[in-house]
Amino acid sequence: MLPGGELRLNAPVAIPDGTAFGDRALRRCCENGQHMPVPGELTLVAPRRAKPPRHLADLAPAERRAAVEELGHKGFRAAQLSTHYFTHHSDDPTTWTDFPAKHREALAAALFPRLLTPVRDIECDAGTTRKTLWRLFDGALVESVLMRYPDRVTVCVSSQAGCGMNCPFCATGQAGLTRNMSTAEIVDQVVAASRALDRGEVAGGPGRVSNIVFMGMGEPLANYNATAAAVARLIDPTPDGLGLSRRSVTVSTVGLVPGIAKLTNSGLGVTLAVSLHAPDDELRDTLVPINTRYPVGEVVAAAHEYFVKTGRRVSIEYAMIRDINDQAWRADELARVLAFAGPGAWVHVNLIPLNPTPGSQWTASRSRDEKAFVRRLETAGVPVTVRDTRGREIDGACGQLAAADLLDPEEQLS
Ligand code: SF4
Repeated sequence: MLPGGELRLNAPVAIPDGTAFGDRALRRCCENGQHMPVPGELTLVAPRRAKPPRHLADLAPAERRAAVEELGHKGFRAAQLSTHYFTHHSDDPTTWTDFPAKHREALAAALFPRLLTPVRDIECDAGTTRKTLWRLFDGALVESVLMRYPDRVTVCVSSQAGCGMNCPFCATGQAGLTRNMSTAEIVDQVVAASRALDRGEVAGGPGRVSNIVFMGMGEPLANYNATAAAVARLIDPTPDGLGLSRRSVTVSTVGLVPGIAKLTNSGLGVTLAVSLHAPDDELRDTLVPINTRYPVGEVVAAAHEYFVKTGRRVSIEYAMIRDINDQAWRADELARVLAFAGPGAWVHVNLIPLNPTPGSQWTASRSRDEKAFVRRLETAGVPVTVRDTRGREIDGACGQLAAADLLDPEEQLS
């Protein structure tokens, strides 16, 4: 039992048709009708909703050509539109001077519907961290974060509106899953950040996005097809895509083993991050409810297979929660579990000081416990770092800004 008393081990799991087994079949809704999961409840199938309008970034290059021809234009125009969007980050037809003026508006309406409407921006770290809350076409709220470092610019994107994984320490998980995001809705977060950098709107002057992490709202591998297609748009060379290095794109999962297997065989070759947060099933069943489906051993084995097939070292994410998962013996157990899956430097452990959700009784580990945890892993030969905690003062943990707006819709700016 964890502090707060509400959580327990082996919580019941909702099955895809919405029924639940176990003794917790109660379903809750907040005032706006969003289903709020009970502790331990998983939502593995996204609710059916109206699809976002089709956007150029939803389409692979050959599909773009076909779409442009269907609209009555020569196929080569597709590459021109791709250049405007992926190279110049422009979806504004007034800048498309290589198109006859009479066609621009119609093309923009057909292939560049507005997907993301900014609700608010919040900055910290002297303007080098900027979190944006977006409203999607159907009113769903998501957020992305731009983080500028001396040597790189990282954008953290959302892949779902809400999340069905229900991790109890996470604001997004508490609010439930609204829907999957489309490929273009994911990509457009990166293009919007690129545009802001082009215009010099971020402290430090004009710059370029260099890294992407799928660590915003949602579980990317629960929305596999859109995530994989979005990754393709990010790494495809310009003008077909944004031309980012596949190594600089990180897909983070809470441990959906079938999704990890798909990613392993996809050929995308991105960096995989696995949010483990506990080395033992007893605790992980509670901290990460999907563990009741895919226990630690299976998740670590799938991650190791990813390393074997792709040669990419896997990042193990571990939120440090005071007196919950930060004991020295758990560091030893973590080292044992990782060594058991495969010897050698196939993983890197990233310790993340917990950024507590508002009202949470959980908090970040004491410094001395964190240091002891690091020492134990290092002694066991496990590469480990403590992650920089950008954005703490702007509700930097995933989903906290959107959660605040879900709870207090009157405060929305637009
Ligand atoms: S921590 Fe990640 S996987 Fe867990 S509920 Fe939050 S967004 Fe979902």
